[in-house]
Amino acid sequence: MTRIAEGWISAQLAEFLGAITSAGERGAAADRGVVWAAETLEAELGAVIEGGHVTASVGFPGGRVDVRHLIAAVAARAQEIDVKGVGRCRLTSAPFETDGDGHLVVARLGDQPFSREEATLMRGMARSLSLTLDVFSALDRERSLRATLQERQLLLERLSAIQRAITRRAPLSDTLDAITAGARELLDTEASAVRLVDQDDEHTSSLVSSAGLPPETAAEVARAPVGVGASGHAIAEDRLVVMYDYAKATSVLPQLAARGFVAAMAAPVREAGRVIGSISVASTQLGRHFDENDQEILAAFAEHASLALTDARTMDEMQHLAFHDVLTGLPNRALFFERLDHALARARRDHGQVAVLFLDLDRFKNVNDSLGHAAGDQLLINVSERLRGCLREPDTAARLGGDEFAVLIEEASGPVDAATVADRILEALRPPFLLSGSEVSISGSIGIAVSSHGQADAGTMLRDADLAMYRAKMDGSGSSFHFEPGMHSAAVQRLQLEGELRRALERNEFVLHYQPLVDLRTGDLHSVEALVRWEHPTLGLVPPSDFIPLAEDTGLIVPIGYWILREALRQVHRWQTDFPAACMLGVSVNLSARQVPRADLAARVQEILADERFDPSLLTLEVTETALLRDTEAADVCLQELKRMGVRLALDDFGTGYSSLGHVLRFPIDALKVDRSFVTGVATSEERAAVARAIISMGRMLNLETVAEGIETDADLASLRAFDCDLGQGFLLARPMPARMIEQRLRAGQHADSRQSTFRVSA
Ligand code: C2E
Ligand code: MG
Ligand code: MG
Repeated sequence: MTRIAEGWISAQLAEFLGAITSAGERGAAADRGVVWAAETLEAELGAVIEGGHVTASVGFPGGRVDVRHLIAAVAARAQEIDVKGVGRCRLTSAPFETDGDGHLVVARLGDQPFSREEATLMRGMARSLSLTLDVFSALDRERSLRATLQERQLLLERLSAIQRAITRRAPLSDTLDAITAGARELLDTEASAVRLVDQDDEHTSSLVSSAGLPPETAAEVARAPVGVGASGHAIAEDRLVVMYDYAKATSVLPQLAARGFVAAMAAPVREAGRVIGSISVASTQLGRHFDENDQEILAAFAEHASLALTDARTMDEMQHLAFHDVLTGLPNRALFFERLDHALARARRDHGQVAVLFLDLDRFKNVNDSLGHAAGDQLLINVSERLRGCLREPDTAARLGGDEFAVLIEEASGPVDAATVADRILEALRPPFLLSGSEVSISGSIGIAVSSHGQADAGTMLRDADLAMYRAKMDGSGSSFHFEPGMHSAAVQRLQLEGELRRALERNEFVLHYQPLVDLRTGDLHSVEALVRWEHPTLGLVPPSDFIPLAEDTGLIVPIGYWILREALRQVHRWQTDFPAACMLGVSVNLSARQVPRADLAARVQEILADERFDPSLLTLEVTETALLRDTEAADVCLQELKRMGVRLALDDFGTGYSSLGHVLRFPIDALKVDRSFVTGVATSEERAAVARAIISMGRMLNLETVAEGIETDADLASLRAFDCDLGQGFLLARPMPARMIEQRLRAGQHADSRQSTFRVSA
């Protein structure tokens, strides 16, 4: 609940209270209450239910209420109700504090549900209304007894002042002091007191407010056993207790008897229906008698004390809610800012240091998407527990929202060593989490901002840490990065690029280059790999490494990826039909880790194949291990579907990831592309040669086609041929080139003796 809403609620309650206490008599108070409640909640209908009857109502046609229907709906906590002559309404109700089946009910037409703030306000109005109605009942009874009009007025004033103090959220001690003062005055006794049972010892109560007790006496009875004296009996027996002949009674507080108190009366104070203390009055006048009226009045004060205490607790809870994340219980952004502000002020004073860590979970969305939101929530809870475990007492961990956390490190107990804490957190996240039966590994990226002498403000620090976090993400998951001032301009550039990237697709700024893949045994052109470039209006031709990561981060890779596929198929299909020698020309298209596994991938690929009338067996989709390992289950389903359509699959950059034979065997892969890092210089490095040879022979054993990418020299080419690699790709054979250049060569090849010479261009 926001503080704004809280303010709105107390303001509304104060007005509501003013309206009902000035009503003058019980029936009018109920009428006013129900009208106010309905108006405040913008509801057409309202009713007060007491003792199985409707005692006040508004908005029901002809004033007629189907009482049984209404009571049944309230009892069932129904959120909707059909009202004859009105229609279907949203319903909300709140129980009376002091009457088991009393309720304040409002209903409004349409299907706008009642908000949490409105429900809270309803509870407050129901409580105030029930207390006020009780006071009027007591006064009505008194009318026939001894109370004068003046006394009635005084009682009403005192009690509504107390209610106002409660709704104004005056400090609890002030409210309780108003209650003891009011009780003492109205009941015309020498002393009044409120006692509460100790939280850690149910046999002892403590004095929390008193009026008329000399300070020494108050100190003497500050703590007293439950079950002794009028107060003690009222608590132990949960009933109103009257005691006379105080000096002679057995179970009394001797300190009070010694002070000359002769008669006492006490009533239990409850919180949520449970006795938690008492309110008492005591007199030194011999023969002082507490009649029925006096007892009613004390009971009314006891109810008010109950209300004040229940409210104080609700207030604490609201305070907690306003400053803590409901899911993890960690401080929220507001509290984090407040603490950071204080820490910076302290650092300015003490010339100390403050550090902020910004933690973002890597690929958290995958967990939500694949295991569901409940598992995602559980993961956030578990992460926050591990996070707490990494911190010292004075440090604060907060959840800023989503999968973003922040940590505040102060010098309070030692020097600020942000990097160590960051490492500790990343380490703590390493062991897998158990979520709905499956083990899930997740890493985080951390940005670090440090302020010396408190020279930054909270907002700047958090933003700096956020920027550094982005850098950490670029370095790969599971790392941390310190903020550097240059990052601001980098971030601005990135933002600008992001905007331009969004428009690039509409403006048709992407182009495809094609790099030939050559049969290493025959030298024939086998296929082409489509490689995207961005023709930026001012930056020129931007290579994929400069924008694909950004496109992946923003999700733009998905539409861009489908454009690439369509464009590549259209182009290669044209070559297949235009050049007889290229009628079996294949094409390879890269898929990003954001595209695999997506539930609709296979269907979209199928659609594009059909649109472009492309033979699926001539299309190879290149995926990387990382794409497959993130969610192996879903990736498997996705790849099997593509396989069934007849599309070929290649594992790109093989040898750089966490590849193991097991992974390769698990997926329906047709080809392995040996990563450039093992190919370039293979002729001169024994190590690379060993890896390349191992991959190629493994591929052959598994009946997988092998492709060497990054062949740059004749010596490398010779080695790969010697290893019996199937296909080759590299600058030595041909660079990636625009479509028209491929076309030129295809055309030239038509006249040349062999296509081999066309593509074996020496550098
Ligand atoms: P990749 O799929 O492994 O593509 C091969 C990259 O190696 C290409 O870089 C190519 O130009 C480069 N290359 C080929 N032969 C040689 C060589 O002999 N020496 C050297 N030094 N490099 C060589 P490019 O076009 O810059 O693409 C880089 C990466 O960007 C690609 O690696 C791929 O992961 C990604 N990418 C490119 N186009 C696309 C695309 O259309 N979609 C997606 N999702 N990713 C793409
Ligand atoms: Mg590739
Ligand atoms: Mg590659």
